[in-house]
Amino acid sequence: MKDNIWSAYSSEQLKELDLINEKYKRCLDAGKTERECVELSVSMAKEAGYRDMEDVLASGQPLKAGDKVYAVNMKKMLALFCIGEEPISSGMNILGAHIDSPRIDVKQNPLYENEGLAYLDTHYYGGIKKYQWVAQPLALHGVIVKKDGSVKKVSIGEDEHDPVFVITDLLVHLAQEQMEKKASKVIEGEKLDLLIGNCPLDSVLDEISGAKNSNSAPKEAGEAEKKEKKEAVKANVLRLLKEKYDMAEEDFTSAELEIVPAGKARDCGLDRSMVLSYGQDDRVCAFTSLFAMLDVTKARKTGCCLLVDKEEIGSVGATGMHSRFFENTVAELIALTEGESDLKVRRALARSRMLSSDVSAAYDPMYAEAFEKRSSAFLANGLTFNKFTGSRGKSGSNDANAEYIAALRKALDDENVAYQFAELGRVDLGGGGTIAYIMANYGMEVIDSGVAVLNMHAPYEVTSKADVYEAVKGYRTFLKM
Ligand code: MN
Ligand code: MN
Repeated sequence: MKDNIWSAYSSEQLKELDLINEKYKRCLDAGKTERECVELSVSMAKEAGYRDMEDVLASGQPLKAGDKVYAVNMKKMLALFCIGEEPISSGMNILGAHIDSPRIDVKQNPLYENEGLAYLDTHYYGGIKKYQWVAQPLALHGVIVKKDGSVKKVSIGEDEHDPVFVITDLLVHLAQEQMEKKASKVIEGEKLDLLIGNCPLDSVLDEISGAKNSNSAPKEAGEAEKKEKKEAVKANVLRLLKEKYDMAEEDFTSAELEIVPAGKARDCGLDRSMVLSYGQDDRVCAFTSLFAMLDVTKARKTGCCLLVDKEEIGSVGATGMHSRFFENTVAELIALTEGESDLKVRRALARSRMLSSDVSAAYDPMYAEAFEKRSSAFLANGLTFNKFTGSRGKSGSNDANAEYIAALRKALDDENVAYQFAELGRVDLGGGGTIAYIMANYGMEVIDSGVAVLNMHAPYEVTSKADVYEAVKGYRTFLKM
């Protein structure tokens, strides 16, 4: 381990550290899906004086230094801009992070009943160890969109009076064969179905018992009766969904429902030095970037905070980093400030600098064999930089330029921000990707940075409050560069 930064803090800094982490935990609780993160971030941005770019465009008014705008893409991706004193075509300082996290999604035709138990069929999202998601309280978040376009928000399992859901595991007494399986096969994808009910619908039961008591019941009712009885638990689930969300079974096809661990972010450790929570990859970078973005109101360069979706599945789709949303938004901004110019859009992108922020693997002494200690990130050692990511010969990596790194070192040192350089795990063991290489395609300077995490991609991940604090400090410093 290098220098644990806790001992360096003044009481004043500890106070600020605490305030930031309390706010961070509240954000984690309010933002458990990408949609929820966008909604929360927009409301915080509005409070800080940001205006919707659609409104700015409609007003026909140009933008000037100090103006603050945001643009939302399909409710799942967000870009915030604080216009700097220099023209945008001279480049921006961009903070990027992703707001999607590994989870389990509900399929489009999910509801079924099996032996009196009602389930939702699922397909997991992102890289998970499937066996970590069983036998623990789960919540259901998302939206149901009806044919008339109305959107019903769903959040079940977070309030202490709410019910929760569970994915069952085999009891250990009968698990002799299961325990012999490889970890990747212990729980298979199709066994991750969510248990959501066991109580049959009364009316179905009444009908059945009524039919039984009546002597005139026709003989062929037997089969129908069995089927109805078999589906009575599902029928009851449908009744409850109808009551609460006015939805029919077909409405699942136009729903986005995500299964996440139920409950709030918690302090971790007797010394309360860490945060234990779902979704810290990559919301620890997203929220700290957002905090810094909302704090810095005046800068030479235009500041940008970009929060994207779909990183965990390859940054694909209209709301992932590969989409043209960001480029299009920058084109609108150029038009609103310097006048429409394709060349200036290209210049703005090529002359920008970016911190592509994503979590880094923290050195875990329990799994020391997976790390190379001298190139590892440690908890409570400050903001982590990865010069390169990728795997097996840096394949797929954005390799940040030495000149850019030197400029960052200078800026961070001048502001007393703690930082460390690291690589994700041992060479040839694996690796991970981020959005850095996509932004680098514009020819801008990009480096991977972020917060070190223990237990990455587990239902509950661990971060250091000191690193959360240093991230905010580092991002503020970067925006002022
Ligand atoms: Mn990530
Ligand atoms: Mn990830």
